[in-house]
Amino acid sequence: MSTAFITHADCLKHDMGAGHPEQPARLTAIEDQLIASGIDAYLQRYEAPLATEEQLARVHPIEYLRAIRDAAPESGRVHLDPDTAMNAHTLNASLRAAGAGVLAIDLVFKNKNQNAFCSVRPPGHHACRARPMGFCIFNSVAVAARHAMQAHGIERVAIIDFDVHHGNGTEEIFEGDPAVLMASTFQHPFYPYSGTEMPASNMVNVPLPAGAGSKQFHEAVTQHWIPALDEFRPELVMFSAGFDAHIEDDMAMLQFRDADYRWVTEQVKAVADRHAKGRIVSMLEGGYALSALGRSVVQHLRVLAGLN
Ligand SMILES: [Zn+2]
Repeated sequence: MSTAFITHADCLKHDMGAGHPEQPARLTAIEDQLIASGIDAYLQRYEAPLATEEQLARVHPIEYLRAIRDAAPESGRVHLDPDTAMNAHTLNASLRAAGAGVLAIDLVFKNKNQNAFCSVRPPGHHACRARPMGFCIFNSVAVAARHAMQAHGIERVAIIDFDVHHGNGTEEIFEGDPAVLMASTFQHPFYPYSGTEMPASNMVNVPLPAGAGSKQFHEAVTQHWIPALDEFRPELVMFSAGFDAHIEDDMAMLQFRDADYRWVTEQVKAVADRHAKGRIVSMLEGGYALSALGRSVVQHLRVLAGLN
């Protein structure tokens, strides 16, 4: 079984304006590196469907879904918060991003693909139940996790978040939920300034100081994430895969390298192999240095696809 690669042209049309770091070129930078690395030939491509209201409503209140639909402009741009804007295509891009995760879950649980990567935008992990935030509108990883539980009957999902920013939205949605274990690393103190005040027991949060790099990241994973994951025994492993902790990414001040994304994917894949029949669904979050983003995604995908 191959690795699914799920994306959609609508995700390129969501545009928050010249100079915004969360830009369409992020996805084309990934495509460029897929071709340059030759890994494209090993991926099975799918177009992301639109998430349905039923799927989104497992995470977000109906009133929130209605408010986002009402806010969507027919032309021009509308700001939802200082960092997050909608143009005429943002609603569909957001529905495709969440729908990609739903399709990925179905492919993996129907044994069509061993694992899947969703190359989509906007990202999702800052989106709370009823609030857009930090470039995010729908919490796509949460929608996909709930779909796995509701449509495929599983009881334990692990969410791994190595984005440089704490996934506050995902934490708000799942804190105290025994069906989810969330393991994350993030720069602290840093936006969104959450994740360190008495996190719930199903949150394995490892804050890292500015300047931390491979050594501190590897320690966090081996000392904190892996023991908790092995105790939890997930039936599905998901990644909130943000690549903005890369040393070349000036959004923040962590110093991860290309090889760290390969290494962490290997560590987590071994967990999925031990407990979850190898089932992994990975969703793109941040990553703003275009070359580093594309190269790091390739490192992540090489492991998912079983290439050396
Ligand atoms: Zn981020």
